[in-house]
Amino acid sequence: MRKPRIAIAGFQHETNCYSLTKAGLAEFEMSDSWPAMLHGQQVISQTLGMNLPIAGFADAAKVAGYEIIPILWCAAEPSAQVTDTAFETITGMILEGLREAGPLDGVYLDLHGAMVTEGFADGEGELLRRVRAQIGENIPLVASLDLHANISADMCGHADYLAIFRTYPHLDMAQTGARCQPMLARLLRGEVLHKAFRPVPYLIPLHAQYTGAPPFSTLYDSLPDLRQRGINADIALGFTAADFPDTGPSCVAYAETAGQAEAATEEILSRFLALEPRVDRSLLSLDEAVWISHQRRDKPLILADVQDNPGAGGTSGTTGLLRALMIGKSKSVLSGLFHDPELAAKSHVAGKSARFHADLGGEIRPARAGPVGMPVRSSFPERWNLPLFWRNVWRRCCDAWKKCCIKAHRR
Ligand SMILES: [Zn+2]
Repeated sequence: MRKPRIAIAGFQHETNCYSLTKAGLAEFEMSDSWPAMLHGQQVISQTLGMNLPIAGFADAAKVAGYEIIPILWCAAEPSAQVTDTAFETITGMILEGLREAGPLDGVYLDLHGAMVTEGFADGEGELLRRVRAQIGENIPLVASLDLHANISADMCGHADYLAIFRTYPHLDMAQTGARCQPMLARLLRGEVLHKAFRPVPYLIPLHAQYTGAPPFSTLYDSLPDLRQRGINADIALGFTAADFPDTGPSCVAYAETAGQAEAATEEILSRFLALEPRVDRSLLSLDEAVWISHQRRDKPLILADVQDNPGAGGTSGTTGLLRALMIGKSKSVLSGLFHDPELAAKSHVAGKSARFHADLGGEIRPARAGPVGMPVRSSFPERWNLPLFWRNVWRRCCDAWKKCCIKAHRR
């Protein structure tokens, strides 16, 4: 029996429309905490075993006995809009790969879901529209999305199935890619999956989106119950910094009948609405943060500067919190990370272990705090493995955050 021929590709960007620097082609070509742009078989060999949706899908597809045709995978760090050049070049490469792949039985795409480009507010909607236009209506097109996706009716309309991460911090990226395979198998068997989509009429800031405790754990806990009733549903909590008309949380459902799918999204929407008063949008003022740092000196305390989150398009160069802690004379503070290319260049000129006066951060508009002056000493790690370094920082932050949220919940 002939193996199903499935093309796979990935194009990921989380766009912060308020950020200062755009994502050009170079940002998608270089490696960061994730691999550099991958072509052909590299897509499989260089993501093998990683917690990435495309790696999870490729594994599941291999077990299912599919012939996989890998085309391209790329991602850039969150930033302002994706440039038209980058979007057109990468989309063009994916479409060309699909054309050259020969007869296909299905397509899987590893997307984020909150990409805004210079020319298209709904980046993934446009990408899925072009892929659908090229492969036609009869070839199944499935995609996985980040929990921070801002899903549009267009995205849902062009894809036969959308799977979404169910954890934040994202622990189930590969699992989400893998969840696309059994649904693709159903479509390949000729089953009709009816779909429904509902946007949710309120926004949830990132710091209130933890999925390991209420209120949002209760929403995710309801998904297995729907699954038992034959409905595959998923929830996106949205990414508020990608500012366009479809920004916000939403849910999708797939079922044997349109009525079942519609009823499932109605059910999830009503749960969302009931949770709104329980969403904790509160933030500490700088004075409160400093006060707490003085009170909680018996154990480590983590203060997250949520307005300058480099994992969501922040510049990582603002100094307001550091300045407040210094003025408030907080003790034993480890503050980081700062992105300050000028200071880094100055350190390299000064040499290892050199001591000098530095003005740290704050130079990037629209930071209001300005640079913080301090004596510093240059230090260069012998072997600087940036991807490993960021993975370790991310893992430690996730662990610490999880513990804090669980404690906060218990209180
Ligand atoms: Zn995310």
